Parts: sequence; structure tokens; C-alpha cells
Amino acid sequence: MDFHLTREQDMLRETVRAFAEEVLKPRAAGLDRSREFPVDNYRRCAELGLCGMMVPETYGGAGFDGVSYVIAIEEVSRACASTGVILSVNNSLFCAPILRFGNETQKRKYLVPHARGERIGAYCLTEPQCGSDAAALSTLARRTGDRYLLKGNKVFVTNGVAADTFVVYATLDPGLRHKGICAFIVERGFPGLSLGKPEHKLGITCSGSVEIVLDGCEVPAENLLGTEGEGFKIAMATLDGGRIGIAAQAIGIARAALEESLAYSQGRQAFGQRIADFQAIQWKLADMATEIEAARLLAYRAAWTRDHRERCSLETSMAKLFASEACMRAAREGVQIHGGYGYINEFTVERLFRDAKITEIYEGTSEIQRLVIAKEILRED
Ligand SMILES: Cc1cc2nc3c(=O)[nH]c(=O)nc-3n(C[C@H](O)[C@H](O)[C@H](O)COP(=O)(O)OP(=O)(O)OC[C@H]3O[C@@H](n4cnc5c(N)ncnc54)[C@H](O)[C@@H]3O)c2cc1C
Repeated sequence: MDFHLTREQDMLRETVRAFAEEVLKPRAAGLDRSREFPVDNYRRCAELGLCGMMVPETYGGAGFDGVSYVIAIEEVSRACASTGVILSVNNSLFCAPILRFGNETQKRKYLVPHARGERIGAYCLTEPQCGSDAAALSTLARRTGDRYLLKGNKVFVTNGVAADTFVVYATLDPGLRHKGICAFIVERGFPGLSLGKPEHKLGITCSGSVEIVLDGCEVPAENLLGTEGEGFKIAMATLDGGRIGIAAQAIGIARAALEESLAYSQGRQAFGQRIADFQAIQWKLADMATEIEAARLLAYRAAWTRDHRERCSLETSMAKLFASEACMRAAREGVQIHGGYGYINEFTVERLFRDAKITEIYEGTSEIQRLVIAKEILRED
């Protein structure tokens, strides 16, 4: 077993780190306050090929492997966690299902411009009454002639305020549960689609979360992704990939918390010495560093598994669960190491603490990841 990254992966890390340090990091605190969707960050990421990282070059992507994807999302999220999830959604939740389940026309029309970063994609599964229990969704899809009419509301849609295109999950009949669900590619301009009010959030404040209202939204039949009833399978397969992106985002946030804490603890004095000289602080730093390393290895393994096997739910859920909880612990200890200053928003760890929490919630809460892991290890094959 070889733990070395390839030369290309090393170069990618250096390139994205330099870009994130120079362009994204200086803007992060201001965007956190203004809550404005960072369109320019997205465009700059597109120039580096970060919008369709695992999409083959023939479809406008960068053709990276999964480990490279983790590397890039970690580096972006270390500088700006909102930009990290914005990219993760376009890459994993929008481009990936079209690449895997779309037909050639759909790929040419939708995948290419989104993978190039000329357009922004979003993913609409969650509804006001259901998130974890996605099979209970009630947005209705009714076929009439050459189109479907969608009726229902989707909430918390990341990228929603700026997205050009959405993958929307709706059901032919709620009584059929997962067997009735279909996935649709829905353009922002389709009649009957409108945006609700943007959400005011604890963290990742500029990721453009909004409600999407579908009031008889007209979707051409050719925009059905996969086949009727295949939507639940598409949604779950999509989340397997998405969870790798969120694990990477969590690692990036945790690393930022560690780096801020290493710097602060070597400058701050108490009782006549650097706080970094107290063993209590050293243990916190040691735990943070160890957990980041473990999370990264789990994320790399999940990404590698996804590249080589169709089934990867066990690996992706383990990576997402561990990385997000390690991230929350690192952010909490980061604030603690900064003492009172950690609670003040001029200090980066205050934002990191707020940004960290979401990683334990979206794309499956920690409770749901534990359910997936338990189901996988109890499987009788
Ligand atoms: C900032 C943000 C961005 C988001 N982005 C998107 C997006 O782009 N697209 C999208 O579709 N969704 C998005 N979501 C939705 C997110 O994925 C859901 O909020 C999440 O999956 C949880 O669903 P819920 O909020 O309905 O909670 P619920 O499902 O109501 O869960 C509430 C609590 O009960 C627990 N619980 C539920 N079922 C079980 C069980 N069987 N066993 C044990 N515990 C259980 C949960 O873990 C949680 O603690 C986003 C959410 C937020 C906050």
C-alpha cells in the first residue's frame, strides 16, 4: 500500500491552495457578513476547472479522480466553507447524476455548461415535511402529453438563489414511496418555478439557500432523468458522492481551525508563558491534528472506492460521519483555545465554529449516517 499522492494530485493541491489563499480567504469574512452568493468565486473556480472536477473532459469537465476532488474541496473549504459547498453541490449533486443517469442529449445540453462552470446547478430533494425520510416526499409529478407538471415545495436548496438549473425529485404517487419517485432536470425559467425567501442561517451564510416553489411547473418529458420510478435510486446514489464532498468540506474547516489555533496558541501568553506550552492546550492540538488525518484517510478511501466500485455507501457514510464530527470538535476546541476572542467575529474561529455545524446535518445527519453504516455492516450477502 502506497500513501503517496500522485504528482498530479500534489500539483493540484498546491495550485488550489495558492488560489484559495490568494482569492477566497481574503473574501470569506466579508461574504459571511454580507451573505451575498459569491458568483465571482464560482467563476474563478470555473477557470481552474473546479466546477466539473470528475466529469470527463469530453463533457466539459476536468476528468479528475475522486481523491483529487477531495483534495480540491478541502483546500477551497479551508479558505471559504461556503464556496466549498457551492462547488460540492454543482459537482456532486448536479453534474454527477446527469453524468451517470443522463442520456447523451441531456449531457450535451446540461452537463457541459455546468461542468465548465458557465452555469450553476442545485439539488432539490428536501421538503418542508421531510428531509431524512426522503421516500416520504410529496411534490407531485403528473404527466400531461409531452410534459410533466410538478407541484410542491423544496426547502434549503443550496445554490438556489443563483442556480440556473435544478435536479428536482418528485413523485407520481406518494403512496408508492420510493418506487414512485422521479428525477427531473428543471431550468430556472420553466413556467411555474419561483424562489421563496432566502434562509437566514447560522453558518455557510452565503451559500444561497432558498425555498423553491413549484406551482404546476412545466417540465418537458425529455427532461426526465433516468426512467420513471428511478428517482430514489438516483437521489441515493447521488448522495453517496455528495457525502464525500461534505467530508472534504469538513476536513477543510477543521484544518483551518487547527491552523488558527496553532498560530494563536504560540502568540498568546498566560501565567508568564505561551498557552501552547500548557499540556492541556497541546492535547487539544494533538487531538485535532490526529482526527483531521484520520478523516482525510477515510475520505480518500471513500473517494477511491467510489472510483472503483458502484457500491460505496459504507465508505462514504463513514467518511462523512467521522469527518463532520471531527470538524465540529476541532471548531469547538479552536474557539476554546482562543478564549474570549474565539467568541468574537473578528477572529476566524468564530466563523469556523458556525460553519462546522452544518456538516453534521446536510446530505444526511450523523444519525442517518449511523443508520446507513449499521445497515451495511448487518447486511447478509
Ligand atoms: C444549510 C442547509 C443546506 C441544505 N442544502 C440542501 C440542498 O441543497 N438540497 C436538499 O435537498 N436539501 C438540503 N438541505 C436539507 C438537509 O439535507 C436536511 O435538513 C437534512 O437531511 C435533515 O432533514 P430534516 O431537516 O428534515 O430533519 P429531520 O429528518 O426532520 O430530522 C430531525 C432529527 O431527527 C433525526 N432523525 C430522523 N430520522 C431518524 C431516524 N430514522 N433515526 C434516528 N434519528 C432520526 C435527525 O437525525 C435529526 O436529528 C440543506 C439543509 C441545510 C440546513
